[in-house]
Amino acid sequence: MWKCKKCNEEIEDSFDSCWKCGTEHSGVSSNNPQELKGKKDKTTKDIQAPEKYISTYGTTRTITKLLSFLGWLNIVLGLLISLIVAIKSPLFNWSTLLPAVGGLIIGLHLVISGQIIRATVDSADNTGQILTLLKNRTIK
Ligand SMILES: [Zn+2]
Repeated sequence: MWKCKKCNEEIEDSFDSCWKCGTEHSGVSSNNPQELKGKKDKTTKDIQAPEKYISTYGTTRTITKLLSFLGWLNIVLGLLISLIVAIKSPLFNWSTLLPAVGGLIIGLHLVISGQIIRATVDSADNTGQILTLLKNRTIK
């Protein structure tokens, strides 16, 4: 048996430090185990490289580009077909312009949809980047 130099607690010889206050047999006062653990955690976090934001919308971006492309293709093709029909047909009729109008409407819809999706993805990405920056700042 040995007596703790700090809190006078009776300690079994098999123990190197006081179970109550953490003081070692030699009298060296060790830190609170919880405090030690906290310090260790902080060091590991400091060493860790700052988190980087990775966009999870890569696929959406690709699809959006494709949508916009198809939209413009629709507009151009609609106009081209109407032009060809208008030139080739001997009797000009306003109905020959229908493919152009249809293509224009569908095409514009596709282009607008693509832009809306892109805006949503962009703002989601921005929010993610801000969050990552904030997280990294909190650790430091
Ligand atoms: Zn003690």
